[in-house]
Amino acid sequence: MAITKLLKNKALDIGFDLVGISPAGEFPENQYYKEWISNGYHAGMGYMEKNQERRKDVRKVVSGAKSVISCAVNYNTDMPYSTQLNDKNRGWISRYAWADDYHYRIKDMIGELGKYLEEVSESELNYRAYVDTGPVLERVYAKYAGIGWTGKNTCIINQEIGSWLFLSELITDIELDYDSPVADRCGNCTMCIDACPTDAIREPYILDSNRCISYLTIENKGEIPPEKREGVENNIFGCDICQDVCPWNRKAGTGDSDFLPRPGFFAPNPGELVVLDQEQFSKLFSKSPVKRAKRRGLLRNVLVAMGNSGNRDYIGNVSQCLYDEEPLVRSHAVWALWKLEGIECFDKLSEILSTETDSAVLNEIKRIFNLKQENKGSTNGKIEKTDN
Ligand code: SF4
Ligand code: SF4
Repeated sequence: MAITKLLKNKALDIGFDLVGISPAGEFPENQYYKEWISNGYHAGMGYMEKNQERRKDVRKVVSGAKSVISCAVNYNTDMPYSTQLNDKNRGWISRYAWADDYHYRIKDMIGELGKYLEEVSESELNYRAYVDTGPVLERVYAKYAGIGWTGKNTCIINQEIGSWLFLSELITDIELDYDSPVADRCGNCTMCIDACPTDAIREPYILDSNRCISYLTIENKGEIPPEKREGVENNIFGCDICQDVCPWNRKAGTGDSDFLPRPGFFAPNPGELVVLDQEQFSKLFSKSPVKRAKRRGLLRNVLVAMGNSGNRDYIGNVSQCLYDEEPLVRSHAVWALWKLEGIECFDKLSEILSTETDSAVLNEIKRIFNLKQENKGSTNGKIEKTDN
């Protein structure tokens, strides 16, 4: 069909790296989503429970929908992977968040494609565009549009350019030529499952957000559960490990230079981030996906990374955070100080006990004091690393 060809050419002209089309409708994976939710794997993302019927079938999102045009942009750049960094004194911001928030740019691109479709079809179309938002299971449609297969790490992987893909889609009521899904090429590989530091990939293709560092450091707005903090390692916004180790990303193509890291975003020094006040945070992360974590969320993550670093040079900055205006920051500073100083931090913690009023911070201090009791006599004054 001529329109399909014109549309695909236009998508590439606009700047998408991949484009494919699937019929609108239900696929078996849409059913798995329901199971995933009922297992609680969406963690605190309550919004994912909503609109399940609409998510299952895009025809409930766009009436009369017949086609889903899936597009992908490769955001990889020629920069090292987190697994190559191996430096506990550097934080890690997920690759997708190095540059300006991609939503704006991709939204313009997919919007332009929608207008073009309207022009070439010479009819009044019903269509809607989505970029990582709305009630659309975009990975399912990307799979059936032949963009790539769903890897065991749950990312869409393209054989040629890997999995560093921003997805977006156009749902429309026009009939087009459809692509076929590509074969799953994970084979016997389990590298992503083996490398995940928090065992978040419970089994191939099933990711438990409760354990995933991306969830814990971005969508999670509260505390990072103590037993999960060591697993977060040096990740201060998201996590790339299960993509970094994927063999299909070894030769991942590179995308636009616009996706190169903004100054200071590649493996930042936690010591520089933990001192940011609100004004500095807003300025540094203006138009950046990192601002989603808000200052208190980012500092929470940075403190966990500092605690995990074992670097006692951070003690001064971490101690300052005991007096931060945000309780979330103060409670994680308590933990980080404990990790860096062990029982040496007790004088400082005792001092703030008399002035601290927030119950979460007080509970964290008490929890740390209790850890000491539990370990009394088991070490030479030092608390073993396994305590969290
Ligand atoms: S993003 Fe990180 S924590 Fe989440 S599944 Fe992948 S490796 Fe595990
Ligand atoms: S690391 Fe291996 S199992 Fe995991 S997504 Fe990549 S190819 Fe598949």
